[in-house]
Amino acid sequence: MSAPGSEERLTSGARSEEDATEGSLRPQTLKDFIGQKALRENLEVFVSAARQRGEALDHVLLFGPPGLGKTTLAQIVSRELGVGFRATSGPILQRAGDLAAILTNLQPRDVLFVDEIHRLQPAIEETLYPAMEDFRLDLIIGEGPAARTVRIDLPPFTLVGATTRAGLLSQPLRDRFGIPLRLQFYDVDELLLIVRRGAEKLGFGLAEDGALEIARRSRGTPRVAGRLLRRVRDFAQAAGRAADRAMADAALARLEVDRLGLDAQDRRYLRRIAEHHNGGPVGVETLAAALAESRDTLEEVVEPFLIQEGLVLRTPRGRMLGEPGWRHLGLMPPAGLGAQLDLLAQAPPGEGEG
Ligand code: ADP
Repeated sequence: MSAPGSEERLTSGARSEEDATEGSLRPQTLKDFIGQKALRENLEVFVSAARQRGEALDHVLLFGPPGLGKTTLAQIVSRELGVGFRATSGPILQRAGDLAAILTNLQPRDVLFVDEIHRLQPAIEETLYPAMEDFRLDLIIGEGPAARTVRIDLPPFTLVGATTRAGLLSQPLRDRFGIPLRLQFYDVDELLLIVRRGAEKLGFGLAEDGALEIARRSRGTPRVAGRLLRRVRDFAQAAGRAADRAMADAALARLEVDRLGLDAQDRRYLRRIAEHHNGGPVGVETLAAALAESRDTLEEVVEPFLIQEGLVLRTPRGRMLGEPGWRHLGLMPPAGLGAQLDLLAQAPPGEGEG
């Protein structure tokens, strides 16, 4: 996905132009896929059962922040099933006919990947229901009194939907996925493996402590790890130096990626809450307007990692800086922050949440 306003961010999980080359770092099999252990093990069972029965795998919904491996997993699923892979995305599908063209061209048991499925047009979503449930399409041909419905049978297929915002999916659509799977941010050990393997694939002699430094500063996100890896390689090459921890640190400092992996945009967001709103609570719309970002970008790209790290808290009255957030900015948390948070936890929802 390309979230508005986040294109230039080095540590955004969102896809950018350069990532078109990231395919070279993509794991090809479930065994190669690092992290997401529980999810991977479950998927392995479902895939091998479907393969043994010679049936299409049940529809899969993958949700989680950008860059965590949703597209990669969808491709792996089709490869492990030994079937074809077709990809499209919610915003691309404009008319029911676009969807019909794709569906009628599928081979039995193929995987159809729909990225950003929360952005499907309602009319297309309606067309999708019988396709998912009964493998049939009901198309309306013609207009006015002459209009008639044509029923087309489809081959059984697997829909793999990906979304950064499971909350935005309509209930009827969500109910049609037999296998909902949530992706989590990766821990440092997992990212270290990913960075090491990436360096190997790139033929880049990265020292162990250099790899660890990149892993620590990847914002829990494999896509960011791959991007930082390439940049550190550039700096090491330009400097003609070994890619060790000092080199990685110098490169990442030049890129303004701090020790937690936060970039300038993250820090601007945190500082805004601290300096203009006394630590909050402040509504997400207010923050979005002040930072000239869309609310979606804040909620899908910027906030999930900050919230997971406890730097920011989502309260019924809006966003608040947590104690680690204050400390990360080098500021003292206000006295009574804990008590205020306890109180807010019981407050009814206000402007901040919607
Ligand atoms: P999403 O679809 O969730 O935005 P992608 O599947 O496109 O994310 O993954 C982004 C990048 O991260 C790809 O280059 C992919 O190779 C890499 N990646 C994702 N998950 C893993 C993983 N578990 N192990 C190794 N690399 C990964």
